Amino acid sequence: MSLIPVTTALTVVYVGDRDALMEDSSSACPSSDSETLQNWSGTHSSDSIKVYSPSTLSSLKSLLSSTTSKVRCVGSGLSPNGLSFPSSSTTCVNLSDLNTILNLENNIVEVEAGMTVHDLLVELSKSNLTLPVLASISEQTVGGFVNVSAHGTGIGVGPIDAFVESFKIVTPGFGLLELARTDSGYQRKLFDIMLVGLGCFGVVYSYKIKVVSSYNLLQKQFVLTRKEAVARMEELKKDYKHMRMMWVPYEDCVVVVASNPSDGVELPKLGVDGDPLEPMKRLLKEKGSQDSKLVDGLGMGELRDELLNIDVLNPEWVKKVNAAEARFWKNNSGYVYDSNSKLLNFDCGGQQHVLELCFETTAGGVKQGADAEFMLRLLQEIESAGLPAPGPIEQRWSAGSSATMSPAFGEDGDFCWVGGIMYLTTDDAEIRNKITDTFSGTYSDLMLKVGKGFGAKTHWAKRESGTVEADEFNQIRKLVDPEGRCGNEWTAKVFGF
Ligand SMILES: Cc1cc2nc3c(=O)[nH]c(=O)nc-3n(C[C@H](O)[C@H](O)[C@H](O)COP(=O)(O)OP(=O)(O)OC[C@H]3O[C@@H](n4cnc5c(N)ncnc54)[C@H](O)[C@@H]3O)c2cc1C
Repeated sequence: MSLIPVTTALTVVYVGDRDALMEDSSSACPSSDSETLQNWSGTHSSDSIKVYSPSTLSSLKSLLSSTTSKVRCVGSGLSPNGLSFPSSSTTCVNLSDLNTILNLENNIVEVEAGMTVHDLLVELSKSNLTLPVLASISEQTVGGFVNVSAHGTGIGVGPIDAFVESFKIVTPGFGLLELARTDSGYQRKLFDIMLVGLGCFGVVYSYKIKVVSSYNLLQKQFVLTRKEAVARMEELKKDYKHMRMMWVPYEDCVVVVASNPSDGVELPKLGVDGDPLEPMKRLLKEKGSQDSKLVDGLGMGELRDELLNIDVLNPEWVKKVNAAEARFWKNNSGYVYDSNSKLLNFDCGGQQHVLELCFETTAGGVKQGADAEFMLRLLQEIESAGLPAPGPIEQRWSAGSSATMSPAFGEDGDFCWVGGIMYLTTDDAEIRNKITDTFSGTYSDLMLKVGKGFGAKTHWAKRESGTVEADEFNQIRKLVDPEGRCGNEWTAKVFGF
């Protein structure tokens, strides 16, 4: 499995006077240099940004207390909606120099928020430990990971915030605060509200996070029909620690990727002999202009992008690509045995628009089987509208979180996450704009319409628009950031500040 290239992700440079900052808050002066920040899909950017990278907690505190401008903390800048990107005249803080493990004992790691998940996993593995939850990529910072309530898959595994025991945050109003899960009363309420804070309360310096012993997974990948997927969904959710389904629009093809911890096994073969990508390569050789040797060297994501790019907005063409993709998945069934960190990261394709919805599937009055019903309704809407929807639509699950702002809020619930996608297969601005219009128009409207009936909330890193009522969040924000310094254009659009 290949990791997503992040070469276009944010490259943050320090432009302030680091040594002076460490000693004296008055010297937290912006340099004349400036940066352009761009997210991974090239869908959001922020120009002429001065980025400060404090290298100690005291320089971080000095930076916040010495400036009266807006302040926005940017992690790896990966969020599809550019969630962290500052507006102009904002002090942009990046913690790439606050990236170490401060303590590790009793299966709790205390880590600076600027460390990437990848680097944290490497360090933890030296003590035979790992994170209890992993997303499909690991290039994000720990701060960005928690602030958006990122999730992996498995009904017993909450989003990352469910494993945070405490955190230290530098706020504009109160300076440094430390909040813990063991706090009581109002302090505990602050912990739950500020934990998934979307950068709106200040800059988190560090987290204490529960970790678990390293484990290997035996992963089985196979294809079901839609009817079989619906019939077996409950069983598969319960039988596997991690399980995701990938539904291919217009095809009776649901890919199941399911894994359990295992101590090593012989790997039986399920797929066909030969190259599983052959149906996609054949179609590209027939229809594309590419050199056939070049086509043979392409991976799955690249093949899909090249194929779609031939006529990306033509539903009839996209159906043909999806049919070739479905044949690939059938050919590619089988077992893999590897570490959790290798198998739970997965290739999610090239530059893309995504919208991911989260809804409760048990408790809270929602009937069992809501997750299967949601998928059938969504596919029915997409297919009857004739949308050029490529594969796959990803369906994952998680346990709940006590964090008020997590889309999976509710410690007793089980939650389902569904991600719709359209790939930005070209650099041609006109076609990219048309893809964007289709995705942010009809595609997203259909998803949100279906989601409404299930009380669905949108993943914070994948919400482009729409206002949200968040009274408690706003009250606490006004308390710790009375001058409203930690917002950006996105928070203005969504929360009104
Ligand atoms: C290819 C791809 C695959 C993805 N897969 C998944 C997935 O499987 N599951 C999932 O849930 N998400 C997924 N995401 C979303 C991704 O996990 C989040 O966008 C990511 O966690 C953001 O991390 P970041 O370091 O890039 O933060 P940024 O995008 O830079 O920031 C995100 C938010 O966190 C805030 N923030 C960051 N650091 C701090 C800090 N120290 N203090 C205060 N606020 C802070 C920012 O202000 C902003 O509000 C994926 C994204 C991409 C591009």
